[in-house]
Amino acid sequence: MRRKTLQIPIGNILIGSEYPIIIQSMTNTLTSDIQSTVNQCIRLFDADAKLVRITARNLKEAECLKLIKNDLINMGYELPIAADIHFNPHLAKVAANYVEKIRINPGNFVNLFPNNKSYTNEQYKLEVDAIKNEIEKLLPILVANKVAVRIGVNKGSLSQRLIDKFGNTTEALVESAIENVKIFNKLNFNNIVISIKTSSVYETIAANRLLVSKLDKLGLYYPIHLGVTEAGIDKEGIIKSSVAIGNLLLDGIGDTIRVSLTGDPVKEISVAETIIKTYQKFLPLPPMPTYSYTLENAPKIFTINDLTTEHLDLNNLFIDLPKNRPFDFIANKLKTVEQVNIKIDIDKFDLYELSIILGRGWIDGWLKDVYLVCDNLKNEKVNDVYQILQVTGKKKLLTEVISCPSCGRTMFDIESITRQVKKRFSIYPGLTLAVMGCIVNGPGEMREAQAGIVGNGINKADIYVFGRVVAKNIPVDKVVDEFEKQLKIHNLI
Ligand code: SF4
Repeated sequence: MRRKTLQIPIGNILIGSEYPIIIQSMTNTLTSDIQSTVNQCIRLFDADAKLVRITARNLKEAECLKLIKNDLINMGYELPIAADIHFNPHLAKVAANYVEKIRINPGNFVNLFPNNKSYTNEQYKLEVDAIKNEIEKLLPILVANKVAVRIGVNKGSLSQRLIDKFGNTTEALVESAIENVKIFNKLNFNNIVISIKTSSVYETIAANRLLVSKLDKLGLYYPIHLGVTEAGIDKEGIIKSSVAIGNLLLDGIGDTIRVSLTGDPVKEISVAETIIKTYQKFLPLPPMPTYSYTLENAPKIFTINDLTTEHLDLNNLFIDLPKNRPFDFIANKLKTVEQVNIKIDIDKFDLYELSIILGRGWIDGWLKDVYLVCDNLKNEKVNDVYQILQVTGKKKLLTEVISCPSCGRTMFDIESITRQVKKRFSIYPGLTLAVMGCIVNGPGEMREAQAGIVGNGINKADIYVFGRVVAKNIPVDKVVDEFEKQLKIHNLI
């Protein structure tokens, strides 16, 4: 059952448990290119996005939001737009005059002790007070313009203050969100949506489950926005999003979603729609166990080829997964055993169904091995199942390539570079590489990666290894070669 929330007005739509799940997206045009941004908003609205977010990196871009909004209204598009603001509270105040929603992380509005690795109690309190002060200054503009706020916490932009207190953990992410929510709530401002996103499917699920349990205990029933940052391109992005978003929706968590895929954002909308349709097929979800996460005893995937090897009688070890009500069937089996091995006729299930069912099983620990039945071992769904296992983090089979969806900050062809990186470095299990659009958020957001390419200027990029810049201002047509060189120098490949 969907978690009960407040209903939050965002312009002419409402977000909350009494309304359908809202699909949103974000432009990746240069915000100051008004015509392109308006056109992309229109394509997104026509594709059925109900809310479009636009980055505002500086005052000029924040002012452009006014022109973009006016153009959209003049062309008959009255659905809301949101401004994406990082670090600069002044930009939030400007943007709040023009848009229906702002996405901020007030925790990043102040950094009183930039050189601190650790904080005294007094410093901690001073910084929280300073955040409150910034929110108080923003509030009259929000109220006057009826603007809603998304408190958006991302793993990559978690403040050092919270990392010092809670470690670089799921708890720190949740605390960051709740700290801000409490400030707004105490100031009697309740037009709030909350999100916690990371590039890890497992952590995104864990963080949102923890967030909701804490919010509900505090009586703070704000809607939740779901997404996975840097989900990547093509199927990998679809699988990551389906496992994380699909399963949180199955938990009853989530009132608005964004699927972040690198490339044209319009592609995201149909993926989001399919995730929603797919999870709804599995409702109501029967009670299912959740076991603590461990990499020991990693799951295995078998195909017909394995009949002659270690598992001679796979048919007896695996239970057939029915197409109809698969979770009810599994839940029934789990009444007598802790884990199940399942046999799946993969032609009967689509990618989204496989991602949600197998992803949930591996994330929550009740699924062990899987036997894939198919006529043709070249069936691409066999690879998809390996990919699902990989994104749950239960087994590292391939190189993981994370890439941001790109936005107005991206000044190079990120989709092409991501494809090249995926192709050239695909065979290193345990290695995580990143391709990020900009140096503003890229380095922080790719903390999980050992190395990455980060856009820095028009058609230029920097290369990072273990969080440090090792090569700067490389023309993008040479950056993948240079990346390979650096990966070798640092013994990563
Ligand atoms: S990393 Fe930079 S370019 Fe990529 S989506 Fe985030 S802000 Fe935009």
